[in-house]
Amino acid sequence: MTFKLFMNSPAIVGLKVKTLTRRPMTIFERVYVISAFKGLLITLSHLLRNMAGLRKLPIYEYPEKPKPIPEGYRGEHRLMKREDGSVRCTSCMLCATACPAECIEIVAKDIPDPAIEKQPEVYNINLLRCVFCGLCVEACPVDAIRMDTKKVDMAGFTREEFIHDINYLVNNHPEGMSPYSIAPTEHK
Ligand code: SF4
Ligand code: SF4
Repeated sequence: MTFKLFMNSPAIVGLKVKTLTRRPMTIFERVYVISAFKGLLITLSHLLRNMAGLRKLPIYEYPEKPKPIPEGYRGEHRLMKREDGSVRCTSCMLCATACPAECIEIVAKDIPDPAIEKQPEVYNINLLRCVFCGLCVEACPVDAIRMDTKKVDMAGFTREEFIHDINYLVNNHPEGMSPYSIAPTEHK
């Protein structure tokens, strides 16, 4: 019923349907020999132009010369320290709560400083589950966790290698990056 009403509508009435006849494929088109040969010629032309350096493509001799990582790109996590060298994290669990992949494990311990109260005894991030969304960094109220290490080429032979513990995270500060949360060079 609905179809008939649609076909009888004023906008449709009067339109002509043009029928196209499809040209039958030749024998060469059906065996795809010429098409495959054309594809190979295109590939060969790209190869020759690249070898002759006509395109000036950016070539990175990875891993000796890794590709530059843009600012703000999220890489491996690092835990920041206070200026006295202690870990800045207060075990508030906000990062673990915000993490959609549930890959942060924190076990808190009491410390005598009443201004801080707690620090992590265990702080593990399972990078095999992490989706690098950065929500843990956003959630942290004390700038204790960052993902600005620019380490993105992670590889390993065992699953355990991808579980970064607190010792790894507090020392995961690449050259030129301050391990301290408040540093004049980082806060412009
Ligand atoms: S980047 Fe996202 S998925 Fe990874 S630990 Fe942080 S919140 Fe979780
Ligand atoms: S890293 Fe930040 S958000 Fe996560 S537990 Fe420590 S202080 Fe809280």
